[in-house]
Amino acid sequence: MKRRDFLKASALSTAGVALFGPETACGSRAGVNQNSNGPDKSQIRNRQRDIPKPYKVGGKERMSLSFEPYELQLRHTFTVASYSRKTTPGVQVRINYDGFTGYGEASMPPYLGQSVESVCGFLDRVDLSRFADPFQMEDILSYVDTLSPGDSAAKAAVDIALHDLVGKLLGQPWFRIWGYDSAKAPSTTFTIGIDTPDIVRQKTEECARNFNILKVKVGLDNDEEMIRTIRSVTDLPIAVDANQGWKDRSKALDEIFWLKEQGVVMVEQPMPKERPEDNAWITERSPLPIYADEAIQRLKDIPGIKGAYHGINIKLMKCTGMREAHRMAEYARAEGMRVMLGCMTETSCAVTAAAHLSPVADFADLDGNLLISNDLFEGVKVENGRLVLPDRPGLGLIRL
Ligand SMILES: [Mg+2]
Repeated sequence: MKRRDFLKASALSTAGVALFGPETACGSRAGVNQNSNGPDKSQIRNRQRDIPKPYKVGGKERMSLSFEPYELQLRHTFTVASYSRKTTPGVQVRINYDGFTGYGEASMPPYLGQSVESVCGFLDRVDLSRFADPFQMEDILSYVDTLSPGDSAAKAAVDIALHDLVGKLLGQPWFRIWGYDSAKAPSTTFTIGIDTPDIVRQKTEECARNFNILKVKVGLDNDEEMIRTIRSVTDLPIAVDANQGWKDRSKALDEIFWLKEQGVVMVEQPMPKERPEDNAWITERSPLPIYADEAIQRLKDIPGIKGAYHGINIKLMKCTGMREAHRMAEYARAEGMRVMLGCMTETSCAVTAAAHLSPVADFADLDGNLLISNDLFEGVKVENGRLVLPDRPGLGLIRL
């Protein structure tokens, strides 16, 4: 090679490094011609067109947060071991930024100890204008978390809205940002509350056609009657949730063996959370996987219950939202624990937010939006019993 040709090749090669990085510049990955002149100008132009334009961060606009109470109307009166109700208080949240809107939601069933007043009081204190842009999620959500020790549902509402917003700005749904395959989203359970045999039979007939697995609330005196009533209608697998309702560990274990014979596939929170030794005793001997629900709230709680349960039930309203839920799922899996996703009575906003994590869950109990008659969104759907995630940016919601 003459000296002039050598210098020309070197200059083009250097330009290639600047544009594509070292691997593509030498053609090893991108298939660029490896002749002595390097990629020609038309190849460079084509490569530039392949690179999507990133969202331009750093406008003058600041994020703004708004919220309003929204009471959820239940289709049926809901009964578990400790209470029954017909409505659930909620608060809808929006974060606006640069022409985009992120939707979030707080749902407050009575046992959570939060109210419309407490959530609105918390949200009044959230000042997002102090942050330059929504991509600073780590700083923003850490700041929100420091505003009070509790208020998990209010924090979740901000977190969900921020995730929706950032996903929209990135142009991708969260399951994809997290690297999950939406085709692996599991079937969701559908919950049948404690009721009279006639009502239980009627509810079971209604839902047996549309779901692949049912969830039954047990923990009162009529557990056997509940299961036998459902079995008179369908042989679908059943998940049971005792909601801490069993008080004697030996009786609980006997019942779990009987439940296994009845086609039950998992048990949630058999005994009170204040009795970790009894729950551990059951877990050690149980023929079915035992999941913690009331005994677990946030990431920091996982090490303390390891060994006492096979798995954890992650709920956004307890754990402060999608960011911590994602960390909990990854941590639990790394520790060899199972993961299930639960929800409160919620609109499709919060249920869809949780559903983006469902491809890595062993069980999904994401039917909260199906239990209300005044949903505000279209989002995750149930088709042939399975969760179908919307392939739209952010949470993928459509406001109804
Ligand atoms: Mg539960």
